[in-house]
Amino acid sequence: MERYDIDKLRSLSCEGVAQRLGIKVQHHKALCCFHSDHTPSLTFKKNKFKCWSCGESGDSISFVMKVLGKDFLDACRWLADEHNVIVSSFAASEDSAVQQKPFDASRYERFFERPWLLPEARKFLFDERRIDPRVVRWCRLTSWKDKQGVPWLQTPYYDCDGKLVGVQNRNLIRGALPRFRFPSGSQCGIYNLPVLNLLKPGEQLFITEGCSDCWAMLSAGHKAIAIPSATLLTKKDVELLETWNLKHETTFHMFPDNDTPGERLFLQLQKVLPSLVHHQLPLGCKDFSEFYLQTITKTKTQNG
Ligand SMILES: [Zn+2]
Repeated sequence: MERYDIDKLRSLSCEGVAQRLGIKVQHHKALCCFHSDHTPSLTFKKNKFKCWSCGESGDSISFVMKVLGKDFLDACRWLADEHNVIVSSFAASEDSAVQQKPFDASRYERFFERPWLLPEARKFLFDERRIDPRVVRWCRLTSWKDKQGVPWLQTPYYDCDGKLVGVQNRNLIRGALPRFRFPSGSQCGIYNLPVLNLLKPGEQLFITEGCSDCWAMLSAGHKAIAIPSATLLTKKDVELLETWNLKHETTFHMFPDNDTPGERLFLQLQKVLPSLVHHQLPLGCKDFSEFYLQTITKTKTQNG
């Protein structure tokens, strides 16, 4: 990656980046996400952040690295994607890329052989998101508690052949940061690839933005995968989808999130998959999960 591009990402407003990460900023201050903070000690000034309690500080790139647990290059990709900064190349230059260990599937495989759900995970999946238990079993969702007692929902990423290629950990404490954690080397590009093998010729495949929208889409009875960002798609991923489209006449469909990043992702994906069909969410529904929840609640009321 070129120095010029890195500088461009570094110059992004750190406060804006924090807001994009879901952190509530008021008067250029926020509750610090790096220590247990009760009065806002995290401050933002132009492209920098600093916590006056725990001393964490840095720029937009290191902020994303710390909050999302990403390495340097992935943090740059995330920033470029979220802020639509055109970056000429993502080929890692020696000085910038932090060498990352490859993903060790053997360490994680056994967790998904006998999945089990903590009460916090059941509440999130079944009460809040109304996900179909069959979907949870198909996706092999499991959960665990870390040493600090924080409950995490653990989502495995498999390739088309069912090989474990990455793991996403989702913090089950509402509003807590980091929201997501990925073990070193996790390849969390396309989610739910094994579903491709279940597609009948000419069947519709829905593309969602994240895992939870994908679970909602599956619970609604559609076959679905998730692609969180167009820049994270590898050439191999794109080729796979193109081939599937040609060989099996799969048609691609999407309900973009009802906001600018949602529409942007649709346009970016449409460049890669020209046959991608746009579906509009009703006004007031920010994403498919919300739409699904409204539909399922309505059905329940109608049935008494
Ligand atoms: Zn702090």
